[in-house]
Amino acid sequence: MILIHPIYSTTKSSLKSINFYIIETDRDLLLLDAGYPTETCWDDLQSELHRLGYEVTDLSAILLTHHHPDHVGLVNTIRGKVEIPLYVHEKSTPRLRREPNFMDMRIAFYEQLYRESGCGDVGKEQIQHLLASLDANASQAIDGELTYVDVEQSLFGFEVLEVPGHSPDQIAFQYRDLLISGDLLIGHISSNAIVEPNEDGERIQALSQHVQSLQKIANTNVNTVHPGHGSVITDPKALIHERLEGVKRKTDAIRDLLYTSQQTASDVAKQMYEKRYKSQFPLVMSEIIGHLDYMEQLHMVDKEYKHGVYMYSAR
Ligand SMILES: [Zn+2]
Repeated sequence: MILIHPIYSTTKSSLKSINFYIIETDRDLLLLDAGYPTETCWDDLQSELHRLGYEVTDLSAILLTHHHPDHVGLVNTIRGKVEIPLYVHEKSTPRLRREPNFMDMRIAFYEQLYRESGCGDVGKEQIQHLLASLDANASQAIDGELTYVDVEQSLFGFEVLEVPGHSPDQIAFQYRDLLISGDLLIGHISSNAIVEPNEDGERIQALSQHVQSLQKIANTNVNTVHPGHGSVITDPKALIHERLEGVKRKTDAIRDLLYTSQQTASDVAKQMYEKRYKSQFPLVMSEIIGHLDYMEQLHMVDKEYKHGVYMYSAR
């Protein structure tokens, strides 16, 4: 028997809440994801534990859906108080550790990506920002031992499902018809497939992975999803259908733009997102490049390398 106790730590951002979960099994007290490294998340964790009659030191393990900072924030603090294992996907390692070689490679990857996408000065500014945040965020690196999950196997009574796309290391935890999904599926906003390099510096086909992961969940018996942000999803199959339709609508809109002229990814992004191109540059570029990669795979677009940038046209 597994009991899931959600913690919804509210945030002013469009994410609405940072969710993490206390799980009671017959033998263990688990924490699934670990919020942001903020006092609010810490207080919310404490009060939920107290309500259930526990202390932080009663936890027996932490499990992570993926390595993003709003899912791992309290890990070091908790493991500073109680020595417990941290279960992660193997691919989380260089990202959680913020390994210098990996982080340098990642910045070089984005530098080339933005340059070849025709992003010009806005791309260069983003690289400066990434370089500055390397030092600023160094303290967020996760310490201590990591235990790798066996994917598609059971762990503490959950089935561990690999669901990459939003991040390359994302896993979801299924118990009967319930799924704790990380950021695969969010009710009030569509979750982003974030374009990233793999461990060898090659671009991950993030949107294609995300689509496959959504289809994978649609083919299970899951009918309740506990997401990484926002409220419980009670009709996940309808929502997955909606999200897949959304991808289709966006690829159609991009193809319409590319019928008129050959364009860079940056040109497409500016037309699709206007003001958000500058204010949310990395997300917007990731969204457009992800869609263009996916469209290339589906033979909807052609790409040509000209004078240092990739030019796309509709097929
Ligand atoms: Zn995330």
